[in-house]
Amino acid sequence: MPNIFAPLLTSVCAQTTRDLHRRVIVDGLCVGTDEPDAWFPREPPEFTGGSPEALAEKRAAYEAVALDLCGPCPVRAECLELALREEIVLPRTWVHGIRGGTAPWQRLNLIRQRQRAAQREAAGAGRAVSA
Ligand code: SF4
Repeated sequence: MPNIFAPLLTSVCAQTTRDLHRRVIVDGLCVGTDEPDAWFPREPPEFTGGSPEALAEKRAAYEAVALDLCGPCPVRAECLELALREEIVLPRTWVHGIRGGTAPWQRLNLIRQRQRAAQREAAGAGRAVSA
């Protein structure tokens, strides 16, 4: 699956986590909002017995809400990168809510892609050492 967020993340990947956090706290659109629950809409359950098409439709609606809420945010890239760094160490079931204009399952996909890339890199380094 292509990483449609790669261009967004490339712009901030070199920043330290501390700097990302500072920028999000200072400039994040949702910081200090009167309606923080808006960033935690009800997530479509994965195992409803419904059709895959119905789940995809519900997920697409959630993703549209995420883009609506975070699209105008000036630190969307920073927020998404920060979320990925924080959530990569969490159990999958702890990843919730909208961050950086993404739904939880989108971030979990990005995290899986990062983990696979790291594994490939480590395997490549191992081959280089043993050669
Ligand atoms: S990108 Fe969204 S979740 Fe992140 S700081 Fe901005 S408004 Fe908040």
